[in-house]
Amino acid sequence: MPLCCRHQRRYVAAMRSTNQASAAPLIDGFGRQVTYLRVSVTDRCDFRCTYCMAERMTFLPKSEILSFEELEAITLAFMRRGVRKLRLTGGEPLVRRDVMKLIGTLGRHVGSGLDELTLTTNGSRLAGHAPELAAAGVRRVNVSLDSLDPAKFATITRRGRLETVLAGIEAATAAGLRVKINMVALKGVNQDEIADMLIWAHGRGHDLTLIETMPLGETGLDRTETHLPLTEVRDRLASRFTLTRLAERTGGPARYFSVAETGGRLGFITPLSHNFCESCNRVRLTATGKLYLCLGQEDHVDLRAAWRQDGPVGVDQALDRAMILKPKGHDFHIGRLGIAGDPGRHMSVTGG
Ligand code: SAM
Repeated sequence: MPLCCRHQRRYVAAMRSTNQASAAPLIDGFGRQVTYLRVSVTDRCDFRCTYCMAERMTFLPKSEILSFEELEAITLAFMRRGVRKLRLTGGEPLVRRDVMKLIGTLGRHVGSGLDELTLTTNGSRLAGHAPELAAAGVRRVNVSLDSLDPAKFATITRRGRLETVLAGIEAATAAGLRVKINMVALKGVNQDEIADMLIWAHGRGHDLTLIETMPLGETGLDRTETHLPLTEVRDRLASRFTLTRLAERTGGPARYFSVAETGGRLGFITPLSHNFCESCNRVRLTATGKLYLCLGQEDHVDLRAAWRQDGPVGVDQALDRAMILKPKGHDFHIGRLGIAGDPGRHMSVTGG
């Protein structure tokens, strides 16, 4: 989205003052260093996964969304302060118009400033974009895939086609991208498919990460009914496969195991049955420039306002405030009344 003249003037003035910007690392009140930024480039999505969104969603007006120039400038401020890993997400990042321009610009920092630029996608538009993503410096993508059964896939996503996503995964692999499959484990929905998904993913050289449903925003459905503790899933898989805990971390919230029978890697993201907030190194920027310090809490600073008022110096001051605000952890838990701790925001807003 082009900047209007007023914002363009501010942008130029702000870029000139970059030399006053801070390079101090981002360390929060619990001594955790923030090195990983997730950016929701849009809250819009072409799917309506039942555990993620309501059937009818109201999305943000496009006028509220950060321009690519603003996104890049804010991202650079993070990089100056030690953020080495950037994940673009949403909503569905590939539905944002001209998103490849942004990815191309950010990709230039891979190797100098950024260790990694990655993407989380539902795969619906991956087939068309995979070669461009690889050319832009993306080496890895996470693709969400909750079922290999076409009918069940359509039911979960409410409007997705399995075939298109599988073609996207193939195109990504052909373009040289490493693909990790993310599967949200849902009781009574896809729990019987987990072992098959593991064999399918590892058979194609993809890691698989299983995710517990989190209470994030209203969906119109009761999340408690489909909540499946991954401790249970791991025990069941361990009776069929040899799982060995790996020390290795990828900078994200998953804990990994090797699977002897498939030779692949299996991750578990268990915010409810076991949280790993003590090692959290992440913050999340919404498409409107709010920086949330935790997926499950309200604490945030407004980087769009900071940038528009005071450029890089304003962003730095807001980041310093943010480090004081970063909470110890989320409050997701299963109580007497079911899953609790919902901050009232969908994952698509905060950036999954
Ligand atoms: N559209 C992209 C995609 O589908 O991967 C990126 C955004 S999506 C919000 C990111 C991830 O969050 C997906 O793997 C999705 O399954 C997961 N997700 C969404 N809502 C969730 C929830 N309430 N609990 C757990 N995972 C959720």
